[in-house]
Amino acid sequence: DHVANQIAAGEVVQRPASVIKELLENSIDAGGQNIKVLVKEAGKTLIQVTDDGKGMSLTDARMCFERHATSKINTAEDLFSLKTKGFRGEALASIAAIAHVEMKTRPGDEELGTCIKIEGSEVVSQEPCVTPEGTTICVKNLFYNIPARRNFLKSDTVELRHIIDEFQRVALAHPGIQFSLFHNGSELFQLPESNLRQRIVNIFGGKTNEKLVPVTEETDIIGINGFVGKPEFAKKSRGEQFFFVNDRFIKSPYLNHAVTAAFEGLLKDKAYPSYFLYLQVDPKSIDINIHPTKTQIKFDDEHALYTILRSSIKHSLGQFNV
Ligand code: ADP
Ligand code: MG
Repeated sequence: DHVANQIAAGEVVQRPASVIKELLENSIDAGGQNIKVLVKEAGKTLIQVTDDGKGMSLTDARMCFERHATSKINTAEDLFSLKTKGFRGEALASIAAIAHVEMKTRPGDEELGTCIKIEGSEVVSQEPCVTPEGTTICVKNLFYNIPARRNFLKSDTVELRHIIDEFQRVALAHPGIQFSLFHNGSELFQLPESNLRQRIVNIFGGKTNEKLVPVTEETDIIGINGFVGKPEFAKKSRGEQFFFVNDRFIKSPYLNHAVTAAFEGLLKDKAYPSYFLYLQVDPKSIDINIHPTKTQIKFDDEHALYTILRSSIKHSLGQFNV
């Protein structure tokens, strides 16, 4: 079973940023309103995520590191309505198989919380402790028992870049939640609860505000919300391009093409428009279960989405005399 855990872990956890993504999603699923991320050496030695969510009972605290210990799916039907980010019950089991994990957690209705330590999937200690309501998970020495993986990690600069990317995606998907990120003791982001425009500005800087053009659309098959950047602010790289489907970050070359098509004739060569687009679709019309890291998605009616997206962006740009 240890081996099975390690193999599965390789699918879910490719690098420190994957751990951050999974922990952040769990904190959000738990109803956290203030979520703090601390990393050292680009997450290679320490990743710590603290939330003020609903916490876990003693039993749940022990259970959550077991494979398929998800509390989020009760029936096959649930898979299609996915209000939560997690649904496989694999993340914590995977992380516990390849790192030293310490967790402190307390539900609101209990006086004492639980402090639990796991190494190589084994509980090495467990005791009651005083801790605020919510959960802190500390992941140390990632891949300590898989040297090949550990050696495969890139430089701190590159791994930190991946961490920041994941952090930004999650923060953009949830502007109503407060997030912070600290690296080696210095604060990289402090994002107060806000609306979407303000969240984008807080992440990408004050000058961002004047370049945002709002996009909204409501049809039978899709709701679109968000912003595109004016063409004169297009970037030389793809850094500021974000799609969220039902509040989940996704990559879609096809929909990206639709956005680019809406900018036809407005962009210089090799320029990439910024966009922050939030699509709401019927969960029954998508399949997000095609990749363990859940950033790819299949739509039932891709072609219709393409057309609607392109024309609604074109319309917005026109309204703002772009
Ligand atoms: P999944 O998110 O797919 O259910 P995970 O392995 O990520 O699987 O988490 C397992 C379970 O542990 C979750 O279903 C949840 O019940 C519990 N859990 C994990 N993180 C937290 C948290 N921060 N606060 C409360 N409960 C949590
Ligand atoms: Mg999860």
